[in-house]
Amino acid sequence: MRLVLLGAPGAGKGTQAKKLIEKYGIPQISTGDILRKAVADGTPLGKEAKSYMDKGELVPDSVVIGLVKERLAQDDCKKGYILDGFPRNTAQAETLDQVLAEMNAPLDVALVVDVDKDDLMKRLTGRRTCRGCQQMYNIHFSPPKKEGVCDKCGGELYQRDDDKEETIKNRLDVYERSTAPLIDYYGKKNILKTVKGVGSIDDIFNNICSILDSQQS
Ligand code: AMP
Repeated sequence: MRLVLLGAPGAGKGTQAKKLIEKYGIPQISTGDILRKAVADGTPLGKEAKSYMDKGELVPDSVVIGLVKERLAQDDCKKGYILDGFPRNTAQAETLDQVLAEMNAPLDVALVVDVDKDDLMKRLTGRRTCRGCQQMYNIHFSPPKKEGVCDKCGGELYQRDDDKEETIKNRLDVYERSTAPLIDYYGKKNILKTVKGVGSIDDIFNNICSILDSQQS
């Protein structure tokens, strides 16, 4: 299954993607995670990307598209994948379609995780991520058992630089302006599905699985 997850920052795409990996045995390709790793490793690409990420702006298409192409060519993507955070604008979506057409492997589903704007702010400011295993928590809705420590691996929890309030506002604006139009884009291609991103993580996950399973049968 070749899947694109769409939705505003904070909609829970990453959390759901991690559960989907386990159930369907396909990798998650998160451009945000790839870029954050490049920043942490201090690579030239990471240094270039950081200035955009800290402001909540999109990293230039040429950089991100190159990363995704490279990743899609790897063996573990043959069975399918979950694209999380890519594409982020129409130019990226068009390039992705071209690349996949050349591979004779078009997308199966573009799934929107839909959450109201007011909820998004609280989710993003409360978000904490484990430095070790990338497990995500929310200090308001799903706190770890011990403050600042990952339940799964005992790693240190941190707040992403771009989860500070001013940056979040900008990321939500960028989403409305650049990424939300992709809902129409995939609607016209008849591969769009929508799931409400409110309620428990497991309920949302079950709704997503029903949609995907009905798609596969
Ligand atoms: P995310 O973790 O998906 O919210 O991404 C964090 C940040 O990485 C974004 O605010 C952008 O600065 C950058 N980023 C991630 N994916 C993309 C993309 N597809 N195109 C451009 N920038 C991206």
